[in-house]
Amino acid sequence: MDPNNLPKLKGFLPKQTLVKYPSPGICIYCGKEGKLSDEHIIPFALGGNLILEKSSCSECATLTSAFELTCLRTMYGPLRLLYDLPTRRPKKLPLKVKFSSNETEHQIVMIDQNKFPFLITFPHFDTPGIVNGSRVHQSGGAKSKKFWIRGASPFYSFRGLMEKLLSELKAFEIFPESKAEVPAFCKFLAKIAHSFAVAEIGLSGFKPFLEPLIISEQLSHCMHYIGSIGKDEPPENMLHDITLLEFNTINVILVKIRLLCKLGTPTYIVAVGTRK
Ligand SMILES: [Zn+2]
Repeated sequence: MDPNNLPKLKGFLPKQTLVKYPSPGICIYCGKEGKLSDEHIIPFALGGNLILEKSSCSECATLTSAFELTCLRTMYGPLRLLYDLPTRRPKKLPLKVKFSSNETEHQIVMIDQNKFPFLITFPHFDTPGIVNGSRVHQSGGAKSKKFWIRGASPFYSFRGLMEKLLSELKAFEIFPESKAEVPAFCKFLAKIAHSFAVAEIGLSGFKPFLEPLIISEQLSHCMHYIGSIGKDEPPENMLHDITLLEFNTINVILVKIRLLCKLGTPTYIVAVGTRK
């Protein structure tokens, strides 16, 4: 089977029933009291159904929605177009094309959404440093060594689509693009893991690691806390998989996150804090 033929998600997203967790009473990122808004642990735009009620102040909500939007636009934009999720984007999309072998610059050709060669991208990471027993100072910023990339097309096999486009455009070469925003994606994972841990065990249940990473630009140690399982895993028959794990040998609480696992995406491991 062509691994680029991603399964259809259509009809899968809207069926999620909402699960609500009670408000912790303060902002889960900065500790502020006062007017708080509900937090979607995984964004609603991705079909997230877990809500932590009244748990983010407006300043923190502005910061978290900025990196969420970056991820939704760049990394999940192709998926949203592919699966026809709500979007205001145009129905024709730009594709880079070369028409002969001696062209040095590519040209942009506008392609119908239903014929567009989408690439879906997720970064792979090492195991989180804290799980490996590394020291904090050994980590150096948000970085990915390799990427999980799959081609996808709603109506054709990806290989068939590429051949069809080459022949229809009379092109020499076409260049589907893969986009990932690794720092924003690390913050996104940290936000999901932190808010899920608060929902499950409460702010009083653990001493958190991740707020500086989420609401300030302190990403220098982020690979100490964030990592992934470095091998491809089979798809699971659910939309997202998010689970709390305890790593007893070092008293660390881990959250396992697999977004859109029906597509066979990577599993992320995020260390959220130590048990109190
Ligand atoms: Zn706040």
